[in-house]
Amino acid sequence: MKVPLLDLKGQYETIKGDVLRVTQEIFESQHFILGPKVETLEKEIAAYCCSKYARGVSSGTDALIISLMAADIGSGASVITTPYTFFGTAGSVARVGARPVFADIDPDTYNISPDSIEKVISAMSTTERKKLKAIMPVHLYGQCADMDPLLDIAHRYNLIVIEDAAQAIGAEYKERRAGSMGDFGCFSFYPSKNLGAFGDGGIVTTHSDEYNETMRILRDHGQNPKYIHQFIGGNFRLDALQAAIVSIKLKYLDSWSQARQENAKRYRILFHEADLEDRVHIPVERENRHIYNQYVIRVMDKRDELRAFLLDCEIGTDIYYPVPLHLQQCFKYLDYSTGDFPVSEMAASHTLAIPVYPELQERQQVYVVEKIKDFYSKNM
Ligand SMILES: *Cc1c(COP(=O)(O)O)cnc(C)c1O
Repeated sequence: MKVPLLDLKGQYETIKGDVLRVTQEIFESQHFILGPKVETLEKEIAAYCCSKYARGVSSGTDALIISLMAADIGSGASVITTPYTFFGTAGSVARVGARPVFADIDPDTYNISPDSIEKVISAMSTTERKKLKAIMPVHLYGQCADMDPLLDIAHRYNLIVIEDAAQAIGAEYKERRAGSMGDFGCFSFYPSKNLGAFGDGGIVTTHSDEYNETMRILRDHGQNPKYIHQFIGGNFRLDALQAAIVSIKLKYLDSWSQARQENAKRYRILFHEADLEDRVHIPVERENRHIYNQYVIRVMDKRDELRAFLLDCEIGTDIYYPVPLHLQQCFKYLDYSTGDFPVSEMAASHTLAIPVYPELQERQQVYVVEKIKDFYSKNM
């Protein structure tokens, strides 16, 4: 049985009529960049994410970059973030000229640990502490980071909070939506995210009138009015086509997230029945709305062999992420070494994402768990 990690064809069938209609409308209008489709999406996302504003941008990475720029974080500044995330998180900090400072993660949720942030700050010299401007938590795999203690730290040290919510649109922490708790919420419409476009795209939420207006200007080369530049911005504009497609998909997002949650629930039962609990750690659902962009298990041993075995069984998996960012070649200048973030390093070598997409069938899930069981009965 074939079980891909993600299959978006079923979703496309659901929305095909609407997509083709709006695509044709945009083709006829020949209005491709920003414009009314983007403005509509911005209003819809702001409402969905319980934020005052949303600014459409060209990608999730650019959402992070424009947030840092709007907060005037650049050369000479530093930002605390997690080493166990997609590269774009710390990459965007470095791209604006600031220094990523890592703090380790919680072993249950893989999200940045507020205790570890506190430790990192305590160990800083007065000069280092002066440079520290922001915390960038990631709501990894679709579950929010532990925001209350994190916001408390940010408040105490006067730090901006930029939520990397690229994997977590609609996720909730104590009834608050991802992206609505910090100063900025950054989302990605990369096709494999829960709300994916048909290409690249992203959006930033904020409650601040000032940040919202600055991002409007920065998004289009910092011009305001046209050809008059107070700031150096960039081309961070969102396409009308992508915005219109995301608007169509947004209507289905809650039902898709619910299907992912049901699949997660079914895995819980299946792993329990298969008596695999001592070999396979299933996700810990700590916050009240995990939207399962990824369903990531942690295995005690032989992760890579298990992955190869599942591939032979035509089961798609992936590793998010195999090398923690503090050990990446490009961040060598930050002077970290192996052992600095033991929980992140452990996660990088033991986690495996298995299929959880909304259209996944029960028999496919049964097959996945059965094959994992087969592997471990042969490889005790
Ligand atoms: C996908 C992702 C991004 C980047 O989004 P793009 O739209 O691909 O630029 C950033 N951070 C995290 C955690 C992501 O998963």
